[in-house]
Amino acid sequence: MRVYNFAPGPATLPLAVLEQAQAELLDWQGSGTSVMEVSHRGSAFMQVAEAAEADLRALLAIPEHYRVLFMQGGATGQFAAVPLNLTAPGESADYLNTGLWSGKALAEARRYVSVNVVADGKESNYMSVPPIAAWRRGAAARYFHYTANETISGVEIFEVPNLPGAELVADVSSTILSRPIPVDRYAVLYAGAQKNLGPAGLTLVIIRSDLLGRARDVTPSVLNYTLMAESGSMLNTPPTFAWYLTGLVLRWLKGEGGLSVMAERNARKAQALYDCIDRSGFYRNSVARECRSRMNVTFRLPSEALEKQFLAAAEAAGLANLAGHRLVGGLRASLYNALPEAGVAALIDFMRDFAHRHG
Ligand SMILES: *Cc1c(COP(=O)(O)O)cnc(C)c1O
Repeated sequence: MRVYNFAPGPATLPLAVLEQAQAELLDWQGSGTSVMEVSHRGSAFMQVAEAAEADLRALLAIPEHYRVLFMQGGATGQFAAVPLNLTAPGESADYLNTGLWSGKALAEARRYVSVNVVADGKESNYMSVPPIAAWRRGAAARYFHYTANETISGVEIFEVPNLPGAELVADVSSTILSRPIPVDRYAVLYAGAQKNLGPAGLTLVIIRSDLLGRARDVTPSVLNYTLMAESGSMLNTPPTFAWYLTGLVLRWLKGEGGLSVMAERNARKAQALYDCIDRSGFYRNSVARECRSRMNVTFRLPSEALEKQFLAAAEAAGLANLAGHRLVGGLRASLYNALPEAGVAALIDFMRDFAHRHG
C-alpha cells in the first residue's frame, strides 16, 4: 500500500511517474533492456537527456545565455564547486547564514575562499532571516551565497535579495520547481535532485554562460563547470537512471500545468497546515511568519513523549516520515510538488483528532 510520504529527501515521487518507470523497466522503448542498461552516449539515452533539459528550460523559463549542467556529488559537492569555479585563490565571497545548510555551505567554502558572513540568524535561533538592511557585504566579494530554503528548520526566503552588483548564488535544493523564479537574477543556482526533482544521484546546476572558463586548475574535473558544459554533462558516466526519472518528473510537471499551478497548490497546502497548527493551541511552529517554508513545515508538540506517540500513530495511519531532522527533533512535514493535497488533508484530520485526544 502507498502511504502519504512526508520525507524531506529522498522524498515522495509522483505516482504516475513511478508507474511509468515500472511499466517500461524491463523493456524500455522496445529495446529489450531497461534504460539503466544502455550507453549514456547512445541516441536513445541522448534523447532522454535532451528532452529533460528542454523541459526544465521551458518550466523555469531559463534564458538562452544560461547553461544547465547535470552533475553528481549532491548539493554538498556544490558547496566546494561554487568557490572553485567562481573565485581565484585569495579572493573572498559573501555568505548569509540562515541555518544548518547555509552553515555547511560556508564551512566548506572556507577551505577555498575567504568567507565573509554577511549576517547570521543565530540570535533568533535561526527561526528568522536577518533583515537585509543588517547584511554587511564584503567590498571585494566575488559572489553572494544564500540558501533559499533551510530544509531542516523550515525557513524560506521568498524574495530574490535585491543586492546591486552582487553575483547571486543560491542553493535551491528544496524549493526548485515549487514555484516560478526569475533565473536571470542569478549567477548560479544549484540543487540536489532528491527533494523536488527526482531520485538521489543527480545534481542540477544552472549557470550564466559568461561565468564559465574561470575554474581553478585544481578543481576536480567532475566539479568543473566549464568541462561539464563542454561535454554536455557527459564528461564521465552520468547517473542515467536518475536523469531519466527526473525527466519523467519534468514531463509530469508540464502535464500538471507547470510552475504557476504548482505554486498555487503548494501555497494552499502549506497554508492549510500552518492554519491547523496555529489554531490548535496544541502544536506550535516557531518560524517567523514571513519566512515560514512552503516546502518543509516544522512543528512541536507539548512534550517529546507526545511527539513519539504522534509519530507512531501517524505511521500506523499511513502518514509516513514525519520525524524532524535528528539534529533538531520535533516533527516536520515536507510538502514537495509530488505530495498531493489529499495527503495534507489527511494529515490535518489526523492532527486534529490527535490534539483532541491528547490536548
Ligand atoms: C538536502 C540539502 C542539501 C544536501 O544535499 P546533498 O545532495 O545530500 O548533498 C543541501 N542544501 C539543502 C538546502 C538541502 O535541502
